Amino acid sequence: MSSLYEAGAMLAAECARYTALGWMRGTSGNLSVVLGRDPLRLAVTASGLDKGEMTASDVVEIDATGAPVRPDQPIPSAEAGLHGRIAAVSGAGAVVHVHALAPVLAAERWPNAVHLRNLEMLKGFGGKADDWVSIPVVPNSQDMTVLGDAFEAGYRPDTPALIVARHGVYVWGSDLYQARHRTECLEWMLRFILET
Ligand SMILES: [Zn+2]
Repeated sequence: MSSLYEAGAMLAAECARYTALGWMRGTSGNLSVVLGRDPLRLAVTASGLDKGEMTASDVVEIDATGAPVRPDQPIPSAEAGLHGRIAAVSGAGAVVHVHALAPVLAAERWPNAVHLRNLEMLKGFGGKADDWVSIPVVPNSQDMTVLGDAFEAGYRPDTPALIVARHGVYVWGSDLYQARHRTECLEWMLRFILET
């Protein structure tokens, strides 16, 4: 893929969009894009920054465990390790993690998995409108290995999302655009089932 700086510019633009939607409040949320596969390298947003004010330099190159691979880089997001795990297991090219409210409310109501069916927006999520999709829900943890193991235990190749209870949602896709479209469609569907 592109250079780290180019990836940083793309991530900053995406962060601004998610911030405008209210899904990256405070300094919450983080995005990543795969830079290379062998070995796995990702560009991930730096920790602790206002996601509406990111620049192309506010990015860190990490390995599959979330550890920075270059000296003199910013500190990666605390959740970088889960980005690496998701990219490694799913083969995704980009991972979105936002603290949108609807996924967290849905996990509160359906704490094991959130079921979606017979919704046109499932097509934007990568399936067919009459598919039956179950979004896995895992308990929150500050330990990315614990979260990664829970993700992998419930992983299905046809379901590109994971809700972390009382925390937020991860959605992935082949690139940042597909991951964004899936995130937007999923958030809409979760709001729909919460309100009906
Ligand atoms: Zn988070």
